[in-house]
Amino acid sequence: MPNDTPSPFIALRDITRVYGKGEAEVHALDGVSFEVKRGEFITIMGPSGSGKSTAMNVLGCLDSPTSGQYMFNGIEVARLDRDQRALLRRHYLGFIFQGYNLLPRTTALQNVELPLIYKGLGRAEREARAISALEKVGLTQRADHDPSELSGGQQQRVAIARALAGDPQVILADEPTGNLDTMRSVEIMELLQRLNRDEGLTIIMVTHEEDMAEYADRLIWMVDGKVEYDRKTTKGAA
Ligand code: ADP
Repeated sequence: MPNDTPSPFIALRDITRVYGKGEAEVHALDGVSFEVKRGEFITIMGPSGSGKSTAMNVLGCLDSPTSGQYMFNGIEVARLDRDQRALLRRHYLGFIFQGYNLLPRTTALQNVELPLIYKGLGRAEREARAISALEKVGLTQRADHDPSELSGGQQQRVAIARALAGDPQVILADEPTGNLDTMRSVEIMELLQRLNRDEGLTIIMVTHEEDMAEYADRLIWMVDGKVEYDRKTTKGAA
């Protein structure tokens, strides 16, 4: 395990996010605080409407909190302008979604390469990085297939390769196994666990499935926009 650093890698401090005004006000996040160490694998669970997606949007710099402080690697995210936040997203964060979000009629390789265009990388380097990312998820033989020729589990692995190709420090995964059967879900979780262990990637994952949460080190349980508890999983406590 990496050493504790004086300032935490990621910290949410008393974060609120209020939607609407007056009578219609919704406190999607109502004073959320937690820290994430570099190299940790945490999962966020809780009933529907408890604020998990809102928390992920804040962590992913896709939404700004109404109040509170979000620190990322010693930087207060609120102090960054739009472009700087976009750069933070592009250079430090990788996203994985329940629905894979792959482009149709586009090969696995091209799907993985696409975000690298926005990083300003040349063609040869893009391709080399994309192939290396597909290797990490065990899909090099499927590089020329488009999503319609791949199973759900394979499509999610392409999406993971796409996230990895950007060389992120953090993966934000929103119900990555939500559309998969148990066997494929376990494969995806084993892959995420391996990337966490071997590549030192910090992973923050939302899931509805308790079995999948057990692949993480720590579980944050949210209710009504608050952290109800934050504890080690069985694996994390071992
Ligand atoms: P979860 O991901 O746990 O299901 P969300 O973060 O999506 O929860 O939602 C938390 C609360 O905020 C819910 O009451 C939801 O209806 C509300 N909410 C989320 N997004 C919006 C929005 N854009 N406008 C108004 N209310 C929202």
